[in-house]
Amino acid sequence: DMSNAIVAQDEMGRPFIIVRDQGNKKRQHGLEAKKSHILAARSVASIIRSSLGPRGLDKILISPDGEITITNDGATILSQMELDNEIAKLLVQLSKSQDEEIGDGTTGVVVLASALLDQALDLIEKGIHPIKIANGFEEAAKLAVQELEEKSDDVIKEQRLFKDYLFEAAKTSLGSKIVSKDLDRFAQIAVNAVTSVMDEDRKDVDFELIKLEGRVGGSLKDSKLINGVILDKDFSHPQMPKVILPREGQDSVKLAILTCPFEPPKPKTKHKLDISTVEEYQKLQNYEQEKFKEMIEYVKKAGADVVICQWGFDDEANHLLLQNDLPAVRWVGGQELEQIAIATHGRIVPRFQDLSADKLGSCSKVYEMEFGTTKDRMLVVEKCQDAKTVTCFIRGSNKMIVDEAKRALHDALCVVRNLVKDSRVVYGGGAAEVSMSLSVSEEVDKQRGIGQYAFRAFAQALDTVPMILAENSGLDPIETLTLLKSKQLKEQTSKIGVDCLGKGTNDMRELFVVDPFIGKRQQILLASQLCRMILKIDNVIISGKDEY
Ligand code: ADP
Repeated sequence: DMSNAIVAQDEMGRPFIIVRDQGNKKRQHGLEAKKSHILAARSVASIIRSSLGPRGLDKILISPDGEITITNDGATILSQMELDNEIAKLLVQLSKSQDEEIGDGTTGVVVLASALLDQALDLIEKGIHPIKIANGFEEAAKLAVQELEEKSDDVIKEQRLFKDYLFEAAKTSLGSKIVSKDLDRFAQIAVNAVTSVMDEDRKDVDFELIKLEGRVGGSLKDSKLINGVILDKDFSHPQMPKVILPREGQDSVKLAILTCPFEPPKPKTKHKLDISTVEEYQKLQNYEQEKFKEMIEYVKKAGADVVICQWGFDDEANHLLLQNDLPAVRWVGGQELEQIAIATHGRIVPRFQDLSADKLGSCSKVYEMEFGTTKDRMLVVEKCQDAKTVTCFIRGSNKMIVDEAKRALHDALCVVRNLVKDSRVVYGGGAAEVSMSLSVSEEVDKQRGIGQYAFRAFAQALDTVPMILAENSGLDPIETLTLLKSKQLKEQTSKIGVDCLGKGTNDMRELFVVDPFIGKRQQILLASQLCRMILKIDNVIISGKDEY
């Protein structure tokens, strides 16, 4: 449609087209715009909500090129959805922020944000100005977080139980994931991984020290924590030993970590190397032999038991290494080399001449890990001296399961790390949300004017979390919510939540269903911020599909 386009010429005489209006782009203003944003957000949330909680459904995602992902992780589901709506994209962003800052609670944050938006829509339809709604929500969020903090329990006070709490919180996080059949094993992996690398004084956990590796094959229950580094490699010669332990009189296995190739430097001749006689060939061979021997001599003299090399080496070198009792690993990538160096307190050495005893890495064992009947092997550099590096090694029968298990474990690692950083917990199964909702509701009557509506709406948005958990577990949402509220009020506690797994009690403390306080707080803050942002946007150009 060129009716509102004018052909003009620039000063050089080149024609160009002025389009007076932005083609078929639709502009939406004010309330209409807001309503349509909220409806878009709602459609995204409706996909996510059925994934919430231990009885949430897994989603199967198929990418345009046919790759299949099975997941229950909100951030993952959203990131793979092809969305062309800007508001829906904001929800993706929201879930990503929660993921980046906290690592868990990515489904919950989207559920809460969209519940807030739903409530906002009702208020807009009642004629309340969006900015006033946003302000009211912000006040209510402050109050909710305050209540959350007051009711949180600091589990470090129960030092004896601290590890139990870490374990239970990891279980709560994993409970809704693919690994739930082997909950204890995975929760233990998460706790052991974090506690073995954590800095107890600084209450900090360096995630760089925790590697997540996966290998298709076996089953989830073959997954384990390895104290050290794993390489997708094997020894360079099949006759080299499969297990290397410290030599007699030594307390560790010494590793030479090399970035120089086992390859003789080219002979320094002025002219092109020209081999025409047998003698000349012999000479060259001898020269190479000499050089190899020299290199091996350097390695031996430094006291190395194992050679880790960034480069490959030919059969000749390989054979000499074998003869000289030097098991070797070749083609080790730069990043892996660095990992080994960190884990073994060794130095990466660029030239054979630079090798010396103090530059070698140390560990208690290097061995090839075999996988049942397959020819697959991996190399484990184990129990590195006082260096803290661990590898969570995930097995599973196919790539989709391994990938989802990795994501699940990542979430659990985050939960445990969060508790190490801040040991306050709140109770899960919607207990914390009910308690916040009750406290915000209590304030409703103290608010004047619009605030009343906003506070009530905010409380109702919080209520949707336990309601969805109930619904996903096959319980009646309204009945459950009513029960939780009356119990919390009657017993003056914030620990009553949804019994998703039918354990026969609503006491989340008894069930040990706990979430880190900082994760829950972040959900509230991020969800209300996002809501505020959307309520403030009132002029969006929606580009029509048929534009052009
Ligand atoms: P997210 O991606 O937001 O972490 P999940 O699907 O992992 O979402 O669900 C987390 C919610 O499920 C939290 O509210 C948590 O308290 C709740 N939850 C987890 N395990 C249990 C359980 N055993 N009983 C009741 N609620 C649980």
